[in-house]
Amino acid sequence: MLSSGSGGNSALIRAGEQRVLVDAGLAGVEMEARLELANVPPPAVGRPGIDHVFVTHGHLDHARSAGLIARKHRGLLHCSESLMRNASIRRCRNLTTLPVGGVESCAGLRVSNVALPHDAQPTVAFRLEHEGRVAVIVTDMGRPDERVARALAGAHVLVLEFNHDLALLESGPYSAALKRRVAGNAGHLSNEQAMQMLRWLASANLHTLVLAHLSETNNRPELARECAEKQLDALGLRSAVRVLLASQSEIGPNLEV
Ligand SMILES: [Zn+2]
Ligand SMILES: [Zn+2]
Repeated sequence: MLSSGSGGNSALIRAGEQRVLVDAGLAGVEMEARLELANVPPPAVGRPGIDHVFVTHGHLDHARSAGLIARKHRGLLHCSESLMRNASIRRCRNLTTLPVGGVESCAGLRVSNVALPHDAQPTVAFRLEHEGRVAVIVTDMGRPDERVARALAGAHVLVLEFNHDLALLESGPYSAALKRRVAGNAGHLSNEQAMQMLRWLASANLHTLVLAHLSETNNRPELARECAEKQLDALGLRSAVRVLLASQSEIGPNLEV
């Protein structure tokens, strides 16, 4: 995880020789700094730095530098048809459409996506599979949805949004309108709603759960962790799954899928 939260989201996946980004929501300079910390080399002759960039949706905290990074690294940017006109995306000319619900295969890496309920149309979650190993990234989801969970089954590493604690959101400083937006059906997952998604998404494959897109205002790391661990306990997976928190300010550890 290069970054996670409303200030910018990005995940780096290495599969064989390929380097793939899911979202690039920080400013370009900060994205480059984090890519360097993650030992991603700059593009060289005949070799991109980042081979593929996939974008979940057009909100700036996910798309901000996606076009810029793809162009600079000579990678191919994959996004939905309607995102092609997005100002952040258009900075890259090397674009290809990934239909909502579609699948892309990049040299043995199979990337599928499924539509999420969220107030940027469309918004998707990604499932990335390479040599039988599966990583799933689900953020910016307004409400739990079992159909979505079924499309994302079998994750070994699961990155899941634990955005807010409902009580903290309700008693917090956000305006009434913003509270309604965040808690609404097209906003973000509360800790409780994330527990429901985890119930549907977790399988015997799962060994690492990354809690993502935590609100700095309306959540606490210990509350999110408590909810995740409680659900894993109920599923009998508590000892089999390590729980990590994705950070806004620094890159996370390398996670082997
Ligand atoms: Zn977001
Ligand atoms: Zn969003």
